[in-house]
Amino acid sequence: MQNYALTHVGDEVLLRDLAAIVVRDRATTATLLACIAEVDARRLYVPAGYSSMHAYCVGELRLSEDAAKKRIQAARAARQFPAIFHAIAEGRLHLTGVCLLAPYLTTENARGLIESATHKRKTEIEELLARHFQLPDVRVRPTTPIHSELQLDVPSHSGGDPAHDDSALSQGAPEHIPKLQSAVLPTTAERFLMQLIIAKSTHDKLLHAQALLSHALPTGDVAQVLDRALDALIAQLEKRKLGVVTRRPRRSTAGNRPAPRGRYVPAPVRRAVWERDRGQCTFVSASGTRCTARRFLEFDHVDPVALGGQASVDRMRLRCRAHNQYEAERVFGARFMRRKRHDARLAAAEGSARPSKEHTEAVLAGLRVLGCKANEARRAVALSETIPGTTLEERMRLALKSLRPG
Ligand SMILES: [Zn+2]
Repeated sequence: MQNYALTHVGDEVLLRDLAAIVVRDRATTATLLACIAEVDARRLYVPAGYSSMHAYCVGELRLSEDAAKKRIQAARAARQFPAIFHAIAEGRLHLTGVCLLAPYLTTENARGLIESATHKRKTEIEELLARHFQLPDVRVRPTTPIHSELQLDVPSHSGGDPAHDDSALSQGAPEHIPKLQSAVLPTTAERFLMQLIIAKSTHDKLLHAQALLSHALPTGDVAQVLDRALDALIAQLEKRKLGVVTRRPRRSTAGNRPAPRGRYVPAPVRRAVWERDRGQCTFVSASGTRCTARRFLEFDHVDPVALGGQASVDRMRLRCRAHNQYEAERVFGARFMRRKRHDARLAAAEGSARPSKEHTEAVLAGLRVLGCKANEARRAVALSETIPGTTLEERMRLALKSLRPG
């Protein structure tokens, strides 16, 4: 067993050992970053039951939120600019320095900035960046940002190549000045200190709300105004997202109603699914880890819509973006889904996501030639239209798949 009591070690040996350990630690850190970068790029956290690399580092590797955030940010920067790995391994740059530099690095300036930051302290690197990018003198630095994983937890753009899942961090450019954030700190078990910078328009709204509430809330207490404002906002959002009405529909009604096909999910189904899944992603990894994501949730068809999936309570579930994509990739193949997302983005940009009429007729004719009954063929064609941006061949394949029994 390792002995951590070092009282018996002489001064000289102690200092020599410490220096040697720091050298080893730097090498380990560089290797650790390389591992994080690779796991992140391969999105291995998804099958393991996590919606983001940050969630994986905290939930699985038991890093603190801050340590995870820092390492992921540094790992992504280093993957883009590999000189960072060497700078860390050789002790020329520390992790904090890398995170400070990361948002400003570009192919053109990376070498120069890394060199300029060599052996610099944190404040010196801040000064270097301020000089270089003419940053404003006054910068508010939050101690504990609300959702410190915010930037890291945002799902990749639906069309992004998972191998190059770039976040706001790796897209950083010189003009990208870190945004001011709000800070929320727990003061007691029941109270939180909140600090934020608001726009003048928000301040005006606050004054207006206080005036409107003056009879009910004579003190104009901001905390209470905020509480009421959030109540109103949540009610409005629930109504929009889940179709919540004053009188809640019974779950059995939602379950018995004939389930519609296609992507439309009726409000009673959405509400029942949300309640059953408790507003949390339902993905469970092979080892039994349930994804804890509660943000960016999507209503997912257990049976893909393209294969005839129905929007019933039993056949719907909540999934985070990462696990919804993962499931689709398992069914249709990663390359197929990647191209679909890419095509859908292009089509949306051109305002032409609708399937072409010629394709519809061609698939219909093809199915009839293969001996399909007219009504069956029409149904299969309709289902093959549910994924936007498909080629004729892909639509034919989807239509055929939907005809397959079971
Ligand atoms: Zn999930």
